[in-house]
Amino acid sequence: MSYAIEIEGLRKVYSKRGRPDVVAVEDLNLKVPRGQVFGFLGANGAGKTTTIKMACGLVSPTSGRVRLNGFDAQQQRSQAMRQIGAVLEGTRNVYWRLTAWQNLVYFGRLKGTPDRELKPRAERLLRELELWDRRNDMVNAFSRGMQQKVAIACALVADPPIVLLDEPTLGLDVQAARTVKRWIESLSREQGKTVVLTTHQLDMAESLCDEVAIMSHGRLLAHEPTVDLLDLFRQEFYRIRVQGHLTAEQMADFVHFAAAHENGQTILTGALPAGTDLYAVVEQLRRLNLPLVSLTPTEANLEEIFVELMDRAAAENNNGAAPQPAGLSTRNNGRG
Ligand code: ATP
Repeated sequence: MSYAIEIEGLRKVYSKRGRPDVVAVEDLNLKVPRGQVFGFLGANGAGKTTTIKMACGLVSPTSGRVRLNGFDAQQQRSQAMRQIGAVLEGTRNVYWRLTAWQNLVYFGRLKGTPDRELKPRAERLLRELELWDRRNDMVNAFSRGMQQKVAIACALVADPPIVLLDEPTLGLDVQAARTVKRWIESLSREQGKTVVLTTHQLDMAESLCDEVAIMSHGRLLAHEPTVDLLDLFRQEFYRIRVQGHLTAEQMADFVHFAAAHENGQTILTGALPAGTDLYAVVEQLRRLNLPLVSLTPTEANLEEIFVELMDRAAAENNNGAAPQPAGLSTRNNGRG
């Protein structure tokens, strides 16, 4: 299989004099197949942006390497950079003292796109994002959402085969966010591009991503096709309905479950940690004199799975073990 992005043994340590080192990325191995929408997920500070910046050649790895369509991001920098367009979160992706149109033309030419291709594409992008009428206004007069739209258009104007989008819909209104989601789908499904997406909007990741990688504290926690990840947890998530109310004190015995109350009943929803016997949970409820009404395996969504994986990683971290969720393999991780 050919990969759009191959990451091998990637590590980044930020060192500043007088301050403790920050290990932002630790021994990351990851392969992203061509033509996929790939979700890169993780809590704040997990190391996603640092990884994306290393892939864009904006941050030098402490060790390890990134290849983009086979080109080494450090050693074959100019060929590698032609493979990607990127929108980075919270950074100035565009020139504020240029107009929207000038920005698109500038970034298109920077990547060597001939004007005969560049100009019609720039027009189409600006029209689709409803910025055509404002094309001759300087970007510093735009709202944050409009600046984000210009940044996305700039990333796409040279028609790169790989698109890296760090929180692409952040700050966008509903309409623009929908347009961007539609683009992401069509970039991959119709144009065969690889789109790597970091987002905290897990419903968006669930609906768009073929595969997801989840990072925690600089390490890869999971890398699975989205459907497999959802399947894997299908057997482990339960909804348990009992008659009566559980007090906050009693809930302490059910740390893996969230409780909701409805018509004098309590509904517990959550994942059973590996090695926990479902009968033990039921027995505990019986001891509390809470009659069982129903017990059903239930489908978890990506958000619930994400929270569960983060909880497990935190528990394993507290036990001093490297985070590795039970029952989960990291696949395509560059080791086989
Ligand atoms: P978020 O979801 O909040 O954007 P992230 O997963 O993208 O988070 P990074 O921005 O890659 O995470 O940060 C990873 C770690 O590296 C954090 O602890 C952060 O404080 C640290 N870090 C990032 N950039 C720098 C820098 N330039 N100098 C020092 N530390 C940094």
